[in-house]
Amino acid sequence: MQCVLISTYDGGHQPFGLASPAAWLQAAGADVACVDLAVEALPHATLAGADLVAFYLPMHTATRIASSIIPQVRQLNPHAHLCCYGLYAPMNEAFLRSLGVATILGGEFEQGLLDLVAELGTLRQPIEPWAQRQPLVSLDRQTFLVPDRSTLPPLARYAWLQTGANTKRTVGYTEASRGCKHLCRHCPVVPVYQGRFRIVQPEVVLADIQRQVAAGAQHITFGDPDFLNGPRHALAIITALHEQFPDLTYDATIKIEHLLKHRAYLPLLRNTGCLFVTTAVEALDDTILAIFDKRHTAAEFKAVVALFRQVGLALNPTFVSFTPWTSRQGYLAFLAAIQELELIENVAPIQYAIRLLIPAGSKLLELSQVQQLVGMFDETALSYPWVHADPEMDRLYTDVRQAVQAAQAQHAPRQAIWERVWSLAKAGQAPARDERHTYAGTTAGVRRGPIPYLSEPWYC
Ligand code: SF4
Repeated sequence: MQCVLISTYDGGHQPFGLASPAAWLQAAGADVACVDLAVEALPHATLAGADLVAFYLPMHTATRIASSIIPQVRQLNPHAHLCCYGLYAPMNEAFLRSLGVATILGGEFEQGLLDLVAELGTLRQPIEPWAQRQPLVSLDRQTFLVPDRSTLPPLARYAWLQTGANTKRTVGYTEASRGCKHLCRHCPVVPVYQGRFRIVQPEVVLADIQRQVAAGAQHITFGDPDFLNGPRHALAIITALHEQFPDLTYDATIKIEHLLKHRAYLPLLRNTGCLFVTTAVEALDDTILAIFDKRHTAAEFKAVVALFRQVGLALNPTFVSFTPWTSRQGYLAFLAAIQELELIENVAPIQYAIRLLIPAGSKLLELSQVQQLVGMFDETALSYPWVHADPEMDRLYTDVRQAVQAAQAQHAPRQAIWERVWSLAKAGQAPARDERHTYAGTTAGVRRGPIPYLSEPWYC
């Protein structure tokens, strides 16, 4: 059985979502090729001879790119069985099936892929129409195998860690868990995992990291939706990791609520090589945070900023900066808070231009106020469209996005990009109304030095 696993985009990482199932399928005797279209071209000859072509869809951008590649693959090989798996596959089931995808696997997908390969292996010819036997979403507790990264491009071709003006570190990527025990309304994890998470066995995570270190990794990104969903699991891994590789650094994503609840663990994170923590703050407006059901307030975020300074860890906050409930005054207050908290060097500039995405299955759609503002599902954008009640806010979003992208293309410093965004936001504002949010100029406040960051600035 010839299997091709394809990733179209995974945030600049070497995809765990290819390496993990590759190990499962190879162990079962399948011939597996991994293709990462983020860093390599479509392998026409390999695809032409494939029995199964499976696309890994962990995020919105990956799904949109895959939707343009699937027709090409069908043309190259009309007889291959097409599968889509990963977080965004079940959410977009109807659309993907309309493209000719026969099998859709969400949640814990490795066993489903294995069963699919076994089933296809028993067939003499393709069945039309195909009736999928594997569950659309599986939350089974799987026993993982060590991911097989041998057919993936080398780590040097992926995003790197920038730790100073001229210091780069090669980055590896793994996952110690999938899913999340929380139910934030805007989050794409929730429609699939429904408040549950599943762990990857610690010995598998450690062996995966060992192999990546052997392949040149100097830093590891833990891609878990929330690294402290299972604190004992996470802490055992980082403790063992630091014992084996004292010079290895890492980063992880942890929600504000967990950072406060588990504040006692922060020194351990720092002492085991954690360089920074990404945290999805989303907004500094408590009304918007309540709509998202984030279970933290702006004041709690500020408490975490202070805590991190005290402990000596860097924070990488992320935001949904444009929502239907964001006013110009609120956007200016957000920018002013970033400056007042001395976080300009911590915030990736694209975070000033993130617009709320409402994908299929979003829990936001349960709110009547959201039902009233969205249009019909847009199959091109793979989301429910919305427009702001104030057209000026939609214009501001477009202006900010273009300005940030242009500035990033020129490698402008984060301070200069913040100033450009501030002046755009300020332009439509009558001076008398925004006295509370007066930016005092670049000489105001203490400017902190650059914090470590990954070279891939996109988070969706
Ligand atoms: S936003 Fe973060 S904490 Fe909330 S459900 Fe999603 S992964 Fe969990």
